[in-house]
Amino acid sequence: MEMAMSDVRRESKRARHAGTRSCVGCLERVPREAIARELVHLVLVPPVSDDASTTVVVDTLGRSTGVGRGAWIHARRDCLEKAVKKGLARSAKGRVSADEVAIAAQIVTQAERRVEGLLQSARRAGALAFGGTPVTEAVSAGNAAMVLVATDAASAAKLAAVRTAQREGLAVGWGDKSRLGAIAGRSEVGVTAILDPGIADALRHALGLIETFSGGFSRPGR
Ligand SMILES: [Zn+2]
Repeated sequence: MEMAMSDVRRESKRARHAGTRSCVGCLERVPREAIARELVHLVLVPPVSDDASTTVVVDTLGRSTGVGRGAWIHARRDCLEKAVKKGLARSAKGRVSADEVAIAAQIVTQAERRVEGLLQSARRAGALAFGGTPVTEAVSAGNAAMVLVATDAASAAKLAAVRTAQREGLAVGWGDKSRLGAIAGRSEVGVTAILDPGIADALRHALGLIETFSGGFSRPGR
């Protein structure tokens, strides 16, 4: 039996949208392969009683326990603001108690944790070079996928290898010397090179979230 035209259209629409997710801020649809890169997952936790509101928990690490339904937003502040104004309530089909400052802070906290975790696993995999000389060697051999410079490491920032990495768009400022040192198991480290391109990409994503969602929101009327 032939399918009616409307069924064909419905089928092709379903196929086209399979696995996609929509941002609840701008309502744009994101293809499956871009979800991890472009979207942040939020969990809508149902109200505990009839007079309470749905609350929102950020789930950038994908550790949602399955409580509540999910919503997605682009990793952009304007999409977060639109989601808080309207999209989350539409998605939850009811009142949502959500604050963009609190959600942004959760995203930053989780992304910071992710950066630490990625650096720890890079260290365990032998994919980090710590300190001026090893970083210089990695950069000149073309093995550095990313160079992290502690924000208080003035002398490391002057290294020729760091300048080269900067020109190539590989240098990023993060943390301070004691924080980088803690990952290396030393007291202080000024600069480290990430030798694994996959880990460097994941780091770039987490650092991008931190950059996007740190700092104040403009809140007219407050
Ligand atoms: Zn959006």
